[in-house]
Amino acid sequence: MGIMEKMRLDGKAIYVTGGARGIGKSVATGFAEAGADLAIVDVDIAEAEKTAKEIAEKNGVKTIAIKCDVTDPDDVKAMVAKVVETFGKLDVAFNNAGICINEPAEEMSYEAWMKVININLNGVFLTAQAAGQVMLKQGYGSIINTASMSGHIVNVPQPQCAYNASKAGVIMLTKSMAVEWAKKNVRVNCISPGYIGTELISNDPKLKPLVEEWNKIGPMGRIGKPEELQGICVYLAGDSSPFTTGSDFIVDGAFTSF
Ligand code: NAD
Repeated sequence: MGIMEKMRLDGKAIYVTGGARGIGKSVATGFAEAGADLAIVDVDIAEAEKTAKEIAEKNGVKTIAIKCDVTDPDDVKAMVAKVVETFGKLDVAFNNAGICINEPAEEMSYEAWMKVININLNGVFLTAQAAGQVMLKQGYGSIINTASMSGHIVNVPQPQCAYNASKAGVIMLTKSMAVEWAKKNVRVNCISPGYIGTELISNDPKLKPLVEEWNKIGPMGRIGKPEELQGICVYLAGDSSPFTTGSDFIVDGAFTSF
């Protein structure tokens, strides 16, 4: 099989958490364009259903929408079971749901801290674990987690200690699972995006005004677009990356390089 054929995802079954909008929706679209069938997983089921329908109509693949809060172990187990029941297997898990709360460390409430850690880190643990259990039994699978450049560097000027800590945690969780499952043909990698234009930024009154600043100081003179993460995720999902596991891919327009 040639390299371009190995990049195709025809017939693969993939779920995407946080798939209703933003990075999740865009990467899900990339997976579908490469031929995959998809479960769009989100707490926002109305938007997830719209996204699933839109992707199926445009790409002629099978899609379903599943309501799931990634912080709820029962929801997560039921979500993975539904994917396996629908598609007969789980080839790829994209654990991408996440939120951002920006508060100075000395003022941040424990509740806000726990909310960020729960969704961004505990949610990735629960989903990756549930996906891993199925994949270990199957004897194959690829797990992709969404970390962030904030797992590598402290961004200025917004204080976001919980977000940074959660994303650094995702990177180490990814590497830990990758090592544990390396001989069992279950690969685990993560992506670390830089600033990407999604509602996570545009709906946040603290982050939105900073886009102009980031456009000025960013090496490329602009922030990223969600579709600029499709290529790396399609590569990690497919059969052209069998030796790629335990890796963290920074996609940030060189933001962490200067
Ligand atoms: P977004 O706000 O556009 O989309 C996030 C989605 O996750 C939403 O549809 C939301 O309903 C869903 N979600 C939130 N909590 C959930 C939960 N408990 N269970 C299930 N779904 C839940 O955000 P985005 O920018 O697309 O971010 C996606 C991921 O990328 C996040 O993990 C984020 O931290 C990460 N990231 C984003 C950027 C950026 O600049 N946008 C940069 C680096 C990393």
